[in-house]
Amino acid sequence: MYRRRCPSGHTREIMSTKKRIALVAHDAQKDEMVKWAERHKSTLAQHELWGTGTTGKRVSDSTGLDITCLLSGPLGGDQQLGAMIAEHRLDILIFFTDPLSALPHDVDVKALLRISTLCQIAVACNEMTGDYILESRLMQA
Ligand code: PGA
Repeated sequence: MYRRRCPSGHTREIMSTKKRIALVAHDAQKDEMVKWAERHKSTLAQHELWGTGTTGKRVSDSTGLDITCLLSGPLGGDQQLGAMIAEHRLDILIFFTDPLSALPHDVDVKALLRISTLCQIAVACNEMTGDYILESRLMQA
């Protein structure tokens, strides 16, 4: 059983073995996200999946995984995920960011990463960290 520290620092929240995972990829990283999700399909299928609009649809179309798709990231999807994290409704954020482009919704990206840090969410911003998280023994804890 894994207990995540809450933002106040005084309490800990027990995480279910069925994790609530969000998938987001910037345009330049979407192919990488699809390939990553295909590799981890059997693990991802054991958990509850969420995604920003375009990423979620692309991953679901190519893997057949059941993903609840929110709005597209630049149209508010990142903010919807941020709200879910603030309300303790997500455990893991797999967010393949584009480190080489300026994005119009950069403030939303920053806010999403900030609330994830504050709320002790596990975050992967690239494929390797995504591998480490999904292959961690804590996924079953
Ligand atoms: P998208 O959003 O999956 O709808 O493209 C991702 C993003 O935040 O850019």
